[in-house]
Amino acid sequence: MKRVVIVGGGITGLAAAHALEKGRERCEVQLVEAGPQLGGNLRTLRHNGFIIDAGPDSWIAAKPHATRLAREVGLGDELIGTRPDTRRVYIVWQRKLYPMPEGLILGVPTAVKPLIDSELLGWDAKMRAGLDLVVPPRRWREDDDESIGSFVARRLGHDVAERIAGPLLGGIFAGDPGSLSVRACVPQLVDAERDHGSLVRAMRALKEKRRAKAAAGESEASAFLSLKRGVGDLVVNVAHKLRDAEVSTSRAARKIDRLPEGDPRGRWIVETSGGPLHADDVVLAVPANVVAPLVGDLDPELSSMCAEVTYASAATVFLAFRKFDVRHPLDAVGFLVPRAENRPILACTFVSSKWDHRAPAGQVLLRVFFGGAGNEHMVARDDADLVRLARSQVLDLLDIDRPPSFAKVFRFKRSSPQPHVGHIPRMRRLLARAATHPGLHVGGNGYLGTGIPDAVRQGEEIAARITPLDT
Ligand SMILES: Cc1cc2nc3c(=O)[nH]c(=O)nc-3n(C[C@H](O)[C@H](O)[C@H](O)COP(=O)(O)OP(=O)(O)OC[C@H]3O[C@@H](n4cnc5c(N)ncnc54)[C@H](O)[C@@H]3O)c2cc1C
Repeated sequence: MKRVVIVGGGITGLAAAHALEKGRERCEVQLVEAGPQLGGNLRTLRHNGFIIDAGPDSWIAAKPHATRLAREVGLGDELIGTRPDTRRVYIVWQRKLYPMPEGLILGVPTAVKPLIDSELLGWDAKMRAGLDLVVPPRRWREDDDESIGSFVARRLGHDVAERIAGPLLGGIFAGDPGSLSVRACVPQLVDAERDHGSLVRAMRALKEKRRAKAAAGESEASAFLSLKRGVGDLVVNVAHKLRDAEVSTSRAARKIDRLPEGDPRGRWIVETSGGPLHADDVVLAVPANVVAPLVGDLDPELSSMCAEVTYASAATVFLAFRKFDVRHPLDAVGFLVPRAENRPILACTFVSSKWDHRAPAGQVLLRVFFGGAGNEHMVARDDADLVRLARSQVLDLLDIDRPPSFAKVFRFKRSSPQPHVGHIPRMRRLLARAATHPGLHVGGNGYLGTGIPDAVRQGEEIAARITPLDT
């Protein structure tokens, strides 16, 4: 029987363990997680009737892997979409909240009237956005790349890039749109320019497709999915379904080395805080900055490739208020803050407006984001300071002057990968280097793909390389 050690009990490692149990060949799986609990970034806390997803609160519905996994582990009936009545976003501009023009897809306008009516952009910016229809498309070759900021500015103008697409698309990565790779972060935009010659034309075509679906009786589905009791249930249920895998928490991998050829214990030795483990296959389901020191002796080149992948830190501050104390209607999923606003926060989610089931009746829950690339010093501030800053921002922007009924702070240190321009070929080289070591597998947060569905996909793909799926 193959022995497999999985390092990392985030959703990538768990998805790999789950998939290995479905494999054709039975494997003896040991999963080691450094932290006291499983889940990595996926952390759900329940407090006085509130459901608090500290980090990720959902995943993109268009990527099927997380949804399929949720169904497989018995969560099909728990899947929820965002509330249909609040599917809009505000942008902070010059100290005021402006609704994003309706009809945007990935920050690209698809309708003329909402753009013309929007007070977020001046006339020159609106005219410039319209030039997308005639600006000649760039000819994309395989590994060409560009930053999100420069790509959107080239197609739709500087103001749309700065006020709409930058905070919307860069915000997902807590990153600087001026250095994030459009190819790695929003490949749909590259496809749109290549296939349609214009982002507006491409997104209009997509809108038409969605309309046709709606006309055929399929209701406009939510772009994001979550779970009624929080995304943490995905972790709990996947872990619960593992039949044979041996799972240890508070056990960190420290070093990975090869065993001599023909060693009956397997190909690999994984030194951990709880003693050595031997394996035929090792799955490193941890971010690249964690892999770097683990493989330092084994392969210094792989180690330095991993060390080059950068991760930003972030903090989330949750504030609960009585609905009664909030004058703003909170009629959106939240607001985004463009970098040019120079505020200490990145965004605010109106959690209880975005999702049902997140706050008890008569209460509202807000989540304020701090940190991200260039603002990581904010994450080092103490809890009281972050809560004070969060309160001053919601006072200024949402006019909430009452104290919260509770506040909670969570930190995510070096957890948000920053796929900079050129990320994809760099990752291909890194993964090809890792593949030169038979039985060593690397995947998860920060390699190829982003977010929970890609993490699940990578875990499943690694498992399929170790043992093909039992059909
Ligand atoms: C604030 C925030 C919000 C996000 N929001 C969303 C969202 O809304 N939707 C979405 O799809 N994605 C979101 N993401 C991204 C998403 O969280 C990640 O893509 C996903 O969780 C990655 O899972 P992973 O298992 O690869 O990595 P991780 O979650 O980082 O898990 C890695 C695990 O490895 C463990 N580990 C580290 N070192 C060792 C060691 N030496 N030995 C053993 N174990 C170790 C860690 O403790 C951790 O549990 C968000 C991320 C952050 C930080």
